[in-house]
Amino acid sequence: MISVREALDTILADVQPLGRERVALLQARSRSLAESVHATRNVPPFRNSAMDGYAVRADDIATADGDHSIRLRVLEVVAAGDVPTRAVEAGTATKIMTGALMPEGADAVVRVEDTAERDGVVTVQRGVKPGTNVRHPGEDMRLGDEVLSAGRILEPADIGLLASLGNATVLVRRRPEAAILATGDELVELGEPLAAGQIANSNAYTLAAAVEEAGAVPRILGIVRDTPETMHSAFSDAFRSDVVLSTGGVSMGTFDLVRGTLRDLGCVERFWKVAQKPGKPLSFNVRGSTPVFGLPGNPVSALVCFYLYVRPTLRAMLGIPQLHLPVVDAQLADDVKTSEGLTDFVRGVLEPNADGYRARVTGTQSSGALRSMSLGQGLIVSPPEMRILSRGSTVRVIKLGEESSIDAPF
Ligand code: AMP
Ligand code: MG
Repeated sequence: MISVREALDTILADVQPLGRERVALLQARSRSLAESVHATRNVPPFRNSAMDGYAVRADDIATADGDHSIRLRVLEVVAAGDVPTRAVEAGTATKIMTGALMPEGADAVVRVEDTAERDGVVTVQRGVKPGTNVRHPGEDMRLGDEVLSAGRILEPADIGLLASLGNATVLVRRRPEAAILATGDELVELGEPLAAGQIANSNAYTLAAAVEEAGAVPRILGIVRDTPETMHSAFSDAFRSDVVLSTGGVSMGTFDLVRGTLRDLGCVERFWKVAQKPGKPLSFNVRGSTPVFGLPGNPVSALVCFYLYVRPTLRAMLGIPQLHLPVVDAQLADDVKTSEGLTDFVRGVLEPNADGYRARVTGTQSSGALRSMSLGQGLIVSPPEMRILSRGSTVRVIKLGEESSIDAPF
């Protein structure tokens, strides 16, 4: 049996980024940027005021303070979007609004709060240093600077940055489409009643949601019965997608037909079984350049394998350099029995504390009990040589998501 690390290396060895497509700016949020972006202009494009106030020569008002104010003649009023018509000279000032182009000659802006204006003369009650309240061209982004790198997942601030450079469209990676097949004679579609021995097909939906969260596009192909004929036709259809995910049918049971079907359809199995729990029966195959994951049927096993192996594959296809989930250290709150010879991924709740995090195990660790993943936000990693993780020890935890806080931060 291969290790988790070997499995991951094997899977990622052949994955290539998909092609690129140009989309409208607002379609680009959460997409992977497919080129590095350089500033094609200075932002801000011109010297402008950071305050509503008066553009002055700092020298003129250097001596102004509480006891001694300075009077300047007001030349004109410049609003944002206006172009000043007069240069500021000794003894004069221009009334200016935030974002307005600075007049020639002025090197600072006094806030309106520190002035009083009457009959075209402004009285300044406080001196300022040269440069005060002045924004310089290129202060935010300088012409030619690389401001976003390829593989960046675009966030709202990035969208705004692209907008301030004037980009109406963006080049992004094509999203991988992942075909999802749920195999099993016991499975029932949502909304159908359960007869004896039947369960709802939850895996297809869990995986579709996880595929979307990873930035890819799910294509649910429905329930596939455990017969060679139905499996053949379902997988043949699935191979039209960029990635294939099936669940169930990869264990030792009489009706576990997935591996045989994949072999018949020209897939090359790179490995079957990984020294891990949950998720041991994972079968990984390739068909041409298409990765084909035979995920285990147990809901927790399928999702853990998704996070460990499928998510990085999808991200590699998206050209994202950061393939893996973040890992944090945490203090373990419980004693946990683990399996010698296997890497265990124990579902835990991560609680931030003064030292970092505390990890508490979520109830039953059955690989059928999906609630353990719904309750937890972390996978506590137990290396193969460990048989027990002791309460109080420091463990590594793979973070599955960020929790928002009930408490306001201030
Ligand atoms: P298998 O690997 O096919 O033997 O399935 C292992 C376990 O996972 C069995 O208890 C199945 O009933 C369950 N299972 C398989 N497929 C699904 C699915 N699509 N949704 C929920 N549970 C499933
Ligand atoms: Mg099955």
